[in-house]
Amino acid sequence: MKLLLIGVDGVRLDVALPAALARHTGFAEPDHPADPRFRAEEPAAPGPEMPRHEEPAAPTLARLLEGGEILPVWMTPPTDSGPGWASLLTGTTHEQNNVWWNEFVGHRLARTPDILSRIFFADPRSRTFAASTWDALVDASSAGPVIHQRVDQQAGGQHQLMKATDFSRGCHSADVQVRGHAAWVLNHEGPDASFVYFEGVDEAGHAHGAASPEYREAIAAADEHVRYLVKAVSERHEQLGEDWLIAVVTDHGHKPEGGHGEDEVDVRRSFLLLHHVGSEAGRERVRCVVTGRGPLRSEDVTPLLLELLGVTEARWEAGHEVGALHDTPSVGPTRNLDHEW
Ligand SMILES: [Zn+2]
Repeated sequence: MKLLLIGVDGVRLDVALPAALARHTGFAEPDHPADPRFRAEEPAAPGPEMPRHEEPAAPTLARLLEGGEILPVWMTPPTDSGPGWASLLTGTTHEQNNVWWNEFVGHRLARTPDILSRIFFADPRSRTFAASTWDALVDASSAGPVIHQRVDQQAGGQHQLMKATDFSRGCHSADVQVRGHAAWVLNHEGPDASFVYFEGVDEAGHAHGAASPEYREAIAAADEHVRYLVKAVSERHEQLGEDWLIAVVTDHGHKPEGGHGEDEVDVRRSFLLLHHVGSEAGRERVRCVVTGRGPLRSEDVTPLLLELLGVTEARWEAGHEVGALHDTPSVGPTRNLDHEW
């Protein structure tokens, strides 16, 4: 089974796919408390009312959910993109990877390999691919990156990385560029595991708020990007018989007036949407593994995807000291404004 993991930044499920909230009782409220340092302050004035739509803003996601599965994912504040994607893509907590903000100060990403790397190291024959609008996920000269470079594998054609460069229309044009490149690679090369990331929804959330028509339109645009990618791998199943696991995840929601980073329920609520393209046996395997699962935390997403793929990692015996840090305790940021410059 091959993996296509699609990351769409800043998506509220109640806008994208409102009916999905009824699919799991775990969507109602967070499964774990937030650190009080990241508690949201009372707003000075009430935000705009969220418009009520029965129709999903994301028809492709709705179609993926038909015959697919969805699990709640509760993000652990701070609900910024850096810590969110670092946890989702490496299967580690903020304390373990030490990513707390989008600046990645003091991160331990070299010690917390991403899901693509873990798949590669489980079987070095596997080919991996990542494409992203946000450079911090894939670019060596960025603040991160979360996805490891693995230059040896790049030289050997086992690993490909692509970052967007066309920001002539902001994240919209960049997302279109990522979509075009990713759809080509998926369709023609069929990597064994891929991660493709879109940022336009988050940009619209910051600019206009989650209650705005622009936010809803941005989700529809991202949904169309997802459709291109699904089409690319579905064609490979149709013509080559390959089995594909498609997974869609987000890192946080947005407040009605826009913004995220703290502990509001609508900001912390994420989801993992799973859809299998291929044999009935593969679909049944996904259903069996997912059925009865409670809500996930961000760091549970990578282990679950590895389990679904059947990836077993080599490991030392429990209690080993390899890789253990004894020097710098991770305490996270103080939120003391004296340190803001
Ligand atoms: Zn984000």
